[in-house]
This record gives sequence, structure tokens and C-alpha cells, in this order.
Amino acid sequence: MIFGKRAFFGYSARPSGEIYWFANVSRREEPTRQELSTITPQAWKRQLLELFVDDAGPATTIIESAGNELGAYPIHDMPTVPTWHRGPIALAGDAAHATSPNSGQGASIAIEDAIVLAKCLRDVPEPEIAFATYAQIRRTRVKKIVEYSARIGRTKTAGPIGRRLRDVVMPFALKYFANSKAHAWMYTHHIDWSERIEAPLRAATLSRSGCLASGGANVNDFLPGRDIGEGQRRGV
Ligand SMILES: Cc1cc2nc3c(=O)[nH]c(=O)nc-3n(C[C@H](O)[C@H](O)[C@H](O)COP(=O)(O)OP(=O)(O)OC[C@H]3O[C@@H](n4cnc5c(N)ncnc54)[C@H](O)[C@@H]3O)c2cc1C
Repeated sequence: MIFGKRAFFGYSARPSGEIYWFANVSRREEPTRQELSTITPQAWKRQLLELFVDDAGPATTIIESAGNELGAYPIHDMPTVPTWHRGPIALAGDAAHATSPNSGQGASIAIEDAIVLAKCLRDVPEPEIAFATYAQIRRTRVKKIVEYSARIGRTKTAGPIGRRLRDVVMPFALKYFANSKAHAWMYTHHIDWSERIEAPLRAATLSRSGCLASGGANVNDFLPGRDIGEGQRRGV
């Protein structure tokens, strides 16, 4: 990891010598897809070399020796999706809680969702109650991870004062981070497949909170910001 003066660079070298790398470049305004598609790999390389030229480490050497297949995409921290299920549809993974890649946990929490959802469908007879139980079990954990990931993103693009502070704090923070106990809540999460879901939410409770829908559902029903009524906005 290189917390550069102007951008963040991450890389990983395989024993074969092959290097995987990425750069986080912040902009005040989000570029459009069209704008990004008109930037050639050579132009990206030039821009990246300028961004990392004053930083220690191998960023510029890696960028110079990279091939010509460079892709650039905007990264977002999605606002919380208030409703994860309605009628016969339930959301899992990025659809419910897309997180920026800073924590490296997006795929992991998507897989965890799938296992918990499968357990709920196995142990709770009615699918809609199974979906609500699944959402209730998963929400707190994924919210914590999405927030953690967003926090890391903010420190990567610190201003001059923030950068100095970060550089002072970083050695201690890394020590804390390297301590396996510090982030055990995130990295050693265990889901016991053989353990049954013992206390599914009751249908009556769900109906009162407005979480059960009587008809079918449309994917657009789940988009953040849609007016879905107070009961559903509270979620389960
Ligand atoms: C740059 C970057 C780096 C990342 N690094 C990490 C990392 O190090 N560790 C980590 O755990 N996570 C990482 N992630 C996050 C991780 O990739 C995602 O969180 C994870 O892939 C989410 O899985 P998903 O199954 O929910 O969604 P997806 O993987 O997006 O799967 C959804 C699938 O649905 C398909 N689809 C879409 N619409 C339709 C349709 N209408 N009909 C049929 N199919 C459709 C898509 O083609 C896709 O295959 C990273 C993400 C990015 C962008």
C-alpha cells in the first residue's frame, strides 16, 4: 500500500513476478462513463505517473511497465438500502449493501448472506418470514463493514493536515490492525451451518411493521430513496 501525496496505490506481487495493482484517484466531480471511455491507457499512465512521481515506493515503475489494458471506474459507497425483501424477492450481496473495496469484504459478506439466507429458508417454513429473519440477522454486521470501508476510503484521500496526522498515526494503527484480535469481528466471522435458526420472526410482527407485501415485487421497489412508507423504511 502506498498512501501517496495525491492518490492511493495498492499492489501485490506474485512469486512469478506478476504484479496486480490499482490506484485510487479522487476527483471533486464524478466523471461520466463517456468521459472515462475517451481517456486512452497512455493518457491514464501519464496522469498516474504525475500523481505518484513524488512518492516513495515502486508505483511509478509498476505503472511504466504496465500493459495497455487499463480500466477506470467510479467507486461509490451506496447508501443503505432500506428494504431487502418484499413478496417473493430478497436481495443479497452488493444488491443489498454494495461496499467500496477498501475493506476487501464485499465478496465475503455476499457469500455470508447466501449461507444465512439458505439457513433461513431451510429452517423457517414461510419464505417471506425467512427473508425477514435473514435481513434481521444480517443488517447489523454488513452496516458495520460498509461504514468501516467508507472510513478507510476517507483516510486514503486526506488533505495536507489529514495526511500528516495519518502518517503519524499509521504505524500504530497498522500494529493494531496486524493484531489478529483487533479485526477478528470482521475476518473470523463464523456461520455454523448445522445450527438451526431457532427464533424466526412472527408473521404478525412483520405485518404490523409493514414488511410483508401481499402481492409480487418489482426490483425498483428496492432502490434507495424510493418512497416506500415509514413502516418499510424502518425495515426489520
Ligand atoms: C475494484 C474492486 C475490488 C474489489 N475487491 C474485493 C476484495 O478484495 N475482496 C472482496 O471480498 N470483495 C471485493 N470487491 C467486492 C466484490 O467484488 C463484490 O462485493 C462481490 O462481487 C458482490 O457479489 P454479488 O454476487 O453480490 O454481486 P456480483 O458479483 O456483481 O454478481 C452479480 C451478477 O449478476 C449478474 N447480473 C446483473 N444483472 C443481471 C440480470 N438482469 N440478469 C442476469 N444476471 C445479471 C452480473 O453480471 C453478475 O455476474 C471488489 C469490488 C471492486 C469493484
